[in-house]
Amino acid sequence: MRLLIVRKGSLQFLAMFSVAVMVIKFLSLHPVSNIEIQNVDMSALSGHSIVIDPGHGGVDNGASANHVIEKEITLAVSTKLAAVLREHGATVTLTRDSDLDYYTRGKGGKRNDLLKRIEIIENSGAELFISIHCNAFRSEKLSGAQVFYSPKFPESAILAERLQQAIKVISPDNKRQAKKDSAILLLNGSKVPGVMIETGYLTNQQEAVLLADNDYQNKLAEYIAKGLAYHFTSNVAR
Ligand SMILES: [Zn+2]
Repeated sequence: MRLLIVRKGSLQFLAMFSVAVMVIKFLSLHPVSNIEIQNVDMSALSGHSIVIDPGHGGVDNGASANHVIEKEITLAVSTKLAAVLREHGATVTLTRDSDLDYYTRGKGGKRNDLLKRIEIIENSGAELFISIHCNAFRSEKLSGAQVFYSPKFPESAILAERLQQAIKVISPDNKRQAKKDSAILLLNGSKVPGVMIETGYLTNQQEAVLLADNDYQNKLAEYIAKGLAYHFTSNVAR
């Protein structure tokens, strides 16, 4: 009889535990509505510490198409994003704030550039990082911003989902989903969770024009910041 009671108790515990897990999963991954993103309380950014990594720079132009150069767009969007986050009380470290690179001479130069960025991220003491890039493809048809994350960190997956949702508010036609990628050195080599945002395709003429536009860059920065604020709000609520 005693055994039976214990069993019943543990079954109840198991049931409650499963429900709790389901609720947590729902809270962390339920699709964010546009209204939730638009009306998010930006003060949630206050006190958080974030690294922004403007992709490429210096000798490394990144992709270029339609007269737009990736390293210039990544720096412009990153600088604007840093300003929005600081305005709302976040501490921001940029891996670069001018047209420079961390390449070393000879073989492994590119890898060393990325390792240096990882070192900056880890030494900053930040809780997460966002790397900003632009995409390119041989077909000019592809378009749309997309957020990548490493499967190594559960938080990166949640952050990526939220940032993907936030970016879609300004481009409702974008059907892209957050995507895991275990081959990106910056995401997988770092001990800090983070995401990479491919802000759009330079090889798509319309998107290249948008990405080079000051107002669009401001909008991107604003909505990435809103996505981050939503991320912090939801984590506290949980
Ligand atoms: Zn890039």
